[in-house]
Amino acid sequence: MGRARGTLVVRRRDIDVHPRPAGGDFDERTVVPFAVPDGLVGALGVYCVNTRERVLMVTYDDGPHESDTARILDVLEEHGARATFFVLAQQARRHPEVVRRMVRDGHEVALHGEDHRSLTTMSALEALRTIRRARRDVERIAGVRLRTYRPPYGHHSTLQSLLLALAGLRVVLWSGDAQDWVDGDADHVASLGRQAAFPGGMLLLHDNRADPETLQPGQALPAFDRAAVAQMLLEGLAADGYRLVTVTDAMRDHQPVRSMARQRMRGQ
Ligand SMILES: [Zn+2]
Repeated sequence: MGRARGTLVVRRRDIDVHPRPAGGDFDERTVVPFAVPDGLVGALGVYCVNTRERVLMVTYDDGPHESDTARILDVLEEHGARATFFVLAQQARRHPEVVRRMVRDGHEVALHGEDHRSLTTMSALEALRTIRRARRDVERIAGVRLRTYRPPYGHHSTLQSLLLALAGLRVVLWSGDAQDWVDGDADHVASLGRQAAFPGGMLLLHDNRADPETLQPGQALPAFDRAAVAQMLLEGLAADGYRLVTVTDAMRDHQPVRSMARQRMRGQ
């Protein structure tokens, strides 16, 4: 029931609930009440891993950015922390040296797509073609294979993620964020990130904002110092006893927790 190949499949609402049943507390209570066929399990997005160990996946989306990413890499290096960068191919082509530094520094380079277009605007085959081309280009720049993919906005259909899984890319979502896609006080952004951490959690951060056109009325684009946020956040997480690991390493060492995507659960 729900378990297959070391994976735990939970109901989406069991990830959203506060306090969420994490830190190794995902158990049979939260397993979906129906058997998920093995072939489908691999297509479900990974939200976190099921462990009581204080490991945390820090992930950065939408980059690399011309200057902020290198400054964040400096902070990670200072803390001996490993992160995962979900890069856009169009940004990677502009800043290939930054992508190569991510690899050299021991971080995971992962894929966020060609650009920030939602997969809901594409057929399954168009999405697969676009993502394969983006993956090939980023792999040429990075010199490593990419294993994980995070769809912009978390949007994807079951068929799209099935095709991606068959192509060897695991769909990865996230368990918490710091609302760093809009402007805010750097201390506040860092504290939101710290509060969203739990053992086995996956924190969504940004080293760039790729979709400024989606800014809502009353919101401002981020003007805070992203490296300063990283510095405060990493100090806080270290004080809380967290070790920062890449997504692929966390999924190798711990049981991945998967669920239906949020928009699928709402029947959209
Ligand atoms: Zn994004």
